[in-house]
Amino acid sequence: MSLTISSEFRKEISKIGEGVSVNYCYQCGTCSGGCPALRYTKIYNPRRIMEEVLLGFKEQILNSQVLWLCTMCHACLEACPQGVKVSEILVLLRNLATEIGSFPEHLKSEVAALLDYGLINPGSGAIQRRRQQLNLPEVPRPIVEHIKKVAEATGFISLTGYTSKEE
Ligand code: SF4
Ligand code: SF4
Repeated sequence: MSLTISSEFRKEISKIGEGVSVNYCYQCGTCSGGCPALRYTKIYNPRRIMEEVLLGFKEQILNSQVLWLCTMCHACLEACPQGVKVSEILVLLRNLATEIGSFPEHLKSEVAALLDYGLINPGSGAIQRRRQQLNLPEVPRPIVEHIKKVAEATGFISLTGYTSKEE
């Protein structure tokens, strides 16, 4: 596979949110050392993604499904000796990937659950009954209409291809 390099990509990322911190990355690998996604997948590597941003591998990063393996635990952000906001930069990259139509198919069912029920894991009847037996309160449900309003206003619905369960 040939690599496309965008000399402007680092500057583009630097202008969004905490993206500027990527410029302080000196490739020590501390973020990768404590990353659970790397430990379990072996193909995901936050240090490498920071390197690819610095080198301008825009197309490769944004079209890579590997980007979506991060669990958003933020261990990398807390550990980085350079103050690179690694996990926040990963969110920026995911947002850009979604804008170019690279939102992963396997996450669309989670989008549908979020917009239909307000929770990614709505829980089964069996779970609700077990909670009652244990005298635990019901899991609070967010107001779905509020979530949908935000999703519409931000373009999340159209970008992720969500269709209502009623359609
Ligand atoms: S820990 Fe920080 S400086 Fe080290 S590779 Fe990761 S992002 Fe770069
Ligand atoms: S936030 Fe993502 S990249 Fe950072 S340590 Fe957790 S799984 Fe790894």
